[in-house]
Amino acid sequence: MKFQVPRGTRDILPGEVERWQRLETRTHQTMAIYGYREVRTPIFEATELFVRSVGEATDIVRKELYTFEDRKGRSLTLRPEGTAPLVRAYIENAPVRAEIPARLYYMGPMFRYERPQAGRYRQFWQIGAELLGSAKPEADAEMIDLFRSILWDVGLKDVTVLLNSLGDSVCRPRYREAIRDYFTAHKEQLCGDCKERLDTNPLRILDCKVPSCAPVIAGAPNVLDSLCDPCAEHFGAVKRALDGLGIRHEAAPRLVRGLDYYTRTVFEIQVAGLGAQNAVGGGGRYDQLVKEFGGPDTPAIGFSIGMERLLLATVSSAAGTAFAPDACVVALEADAAIEAQELARRLRGQHEAPEDREPLRVVVDVAGRSANAQMKWASKTGARWAVFVPKGSDGYAVRDMALGKDEARQATQEGLRRWLLERRDRVEAQR
Ligand SMILES: [Zn+2]
Ligand SMILES: [Zn+2]
Repeated sequence: MKFQVPRGTRDILPGEVERWQRLETRTHQTMAIYGYREVRTPIFEATELFVRSVGEATDIVRKELYTFEDRKGRSLTLRPEGTAPLVRAYIENAPVRAEIPARLYYMGPMFRYERPQAGRYRQFWQIGAELLGSAKPEADAEMIDLFRSILWDVGLKDVTVLLNSLGDSVCRPRYREAIRDYFTAHKEQLCGDCKERLDTNPLRILDCKVPSCAPVIAGAPNVLDSLCDPCAEHFGAVKRALDGLGIRHEAAPRLVRGLDYYTRTVFEIQVAGLGAQNAVGGGGRYDQLVKEFGGPDTPAIGFSIGMERLLLATVSSAAGTAFAPDACVVALEADAAIEAQELARRLRGQHEAPEDREPLRVVVDVAGRSANAQMKWASKTGARWAVFVPKGSDGYAVRDMALGKDEARQATQEGLRRWLLERRDRVEAQR
């Protein structure tokens, strides 16, 4: 019996995974310097959480959820997005709410049953941040600035923010009616999905990618013309704040994003070089969601970034990701295997006094190879040095594998470790 990775998923293998690790490390750092703290929620939640937040009429809930029953008959769903779980955790945990506004983020896999296509997976990874407890335009600007910083940090500096406002409980129902009237009058030109959306979710028609819908959508009323005064003021203030931060932005009145909970600001960030679908992520304000979930009245805004798309965009700027050990320990005799393992452990030095340098990467044969086979293997690993056991009467023998040259013997394990660290510094300095 032979198994394969499930359809629409993939393995992230050595050679690529180093780029993921680097992105993760940098993102944790960027979040920290902006004052954001990580929350790790479960991979699954009560199904109702997503139905009520993301919205019953959305594609995500109608077609894309991974839902299952546990042994007690509870309906659970693999999270299709990160905001609803985070809001649930925010309401449930008073300490998280203590700081106002709360600055939180998450990073991890999400699950949607979508048609697999290039760069789209059923298990995909997202980075997201949420700012809970401020309705001010400065909060919107901070979110977008943080988003830009994460992109900046991985070398994506040519970015454009597409900005829209979906209004609030005052002006959005009016707009919804206007748009429903308009599309009802043009119903015959709409695709099948959009005809359905007329009843369930007319705003989503603006998002339709079916070419035949495009001309009708182009003539639809502009949401920005229908904003009430406070919403229009908020939108203007966000734009001024972005100008102040030097962030390029464009009004995008057709941008609705796929989720029902958004109010006022929604945005997407595009980076140059990703082709037609060049958005790496986006977000928006959700001023009602916390209250609707039984929490305190808490305006909030957040974003999410697709990590696959982000890495796709950075592929050209990626440095080499080869993994080579610094040293291989070679046992010259079969009964030196344990000594070799012990020496490798000492050379790694992780239990020694902390030094502010990266520990040595040291590998040792555990496959019972002969001394000759170990030498071939050591050279295949790309290790710069081979170290031999047992120790001779005048110390440990060392060979520089790159130069094919024997080095001076090192009397002690600690002396050998320091010698290797010093040599590695020298080699790196010459690069
Ligand atoms: Zn359509
Ligand atoms: Zn309004």
